[in-house]
Parts: sequence; C-alpha cells; structure tokens
Amino acid sequence: MPTFSLSLPDEAATERLGAALAGRLRPRDVVALEGGLGAGKTTLARAILRAAAGDRALVVPSPTFTLVEVYDTPRGAFWHFDLYRLDDPRQVLELGWEEARADGVVLVEWPERLGALLPRERLKATLSIEGDGRRIVLEGEDRLVNV
Ligand code: ADP
Ligand code: MG
Repeated sequence: MPTFSLSLPDEAATERLGAALAGRLRPRDVVALEGGLGAGKTTLARAILRAAAGDRALVVPSPTFTLVEVYDTPRGAFWHFDLYRLDDPRQVLELGWEEARADGVVLVEWPERLGALLPRERLKATLSIEGDGRRIVLEGEDRLVNV
C-alpha cells in the first residue's frame, strides 16, 4: 500500500492538503483520521469540507458531542464522524453509518472505535505533533495518497 509522509508546519499547510484531498475524494471513500487529542484531525476534516463545499467560511464544528455532522456539497454528501465517545461499534449504525457508506464520503476521527465495522479500503491519515506544526502519514490507494 503506498505511503506518503508530509510535514504540515502550520494550519495553512493543513488547509492546502485538505483542498488537494477534497478534489480527489469520491462518494464511498473513507478517510480514517488517526492521532491523539490535538493532533489536528478536525482541522484537516474542516479543510476538506470547506474545499468540497467551495465555502472557505463554512462552519465546521467538531462533532465531539453530536458524533456526526452531515454536509451537502456540490461533490455529494460528506459525513464527518467523531467516534471518541462511542461505547460500542454498533452504535454507529444509529448515526446513519450505512447511509453514509452507501453514497457519501466519510471522514472519521477515532476510526479504531469502529472495530470490525472499519472499512478495509480506506485512506488512513495519521497525524502527530511535530514541533509547532504537525506531520501526516497517508496510507491508501495511489489516487488518494499522491497529493
Ligand atoms: P484533533 O481533532 O485531532 O483533536 P484539532 O484539529 O482540534 O485536533 O487541532 C488541535 C489544535 O491543533 C488546534 O488548536 C489547531 O489550530 C492546531 N493545529 C492543527 N493543525 C495544525 C498544523 N498543521 N500546525 C499547527 N497547528 C495545528
Ligand atoms: Mg477532533
């Protein structure tokens, strides 16, 4: 599986990467946003969603409490999950998981909470803190990794 490691020295770098990814994501794609608290998962999701919506000011709250937010964009429906508070993987079915997978793009923070429901075909994006910025390791299909 192709792997690509990239330094994101500031939020502007994360925004550029998000815009590049948004242009490549298609319905049924899954982006698994890995990394601890504060690693920059929501920031990257926000950048992807703003670019997909074509709205730089789109309000993208962290779905920490709602667990999911859905965005209708010119590129289709984008579902942003934050599963930190999920107790059991099956709870995700109550959040619209199957509808999201049927024809949406899925961005998911804390994807490990999905257990066996985690799709095998996914773009794995692992964020970590590096100095004042972040590092991201992308792992997945060529189409998505070569940004
Ligand atoms: P997470 O969702 O992983 O908990 P957030 O996206 O909420 O993390 O980001 C946590 C903090 O990191 C925010 O204050 C955000 O501004 C900052 N941040 C995100 N990406 C970068 C980056 N590339 N460089 C520097 N700071 C960043
Ligand atoms: Mg977050």
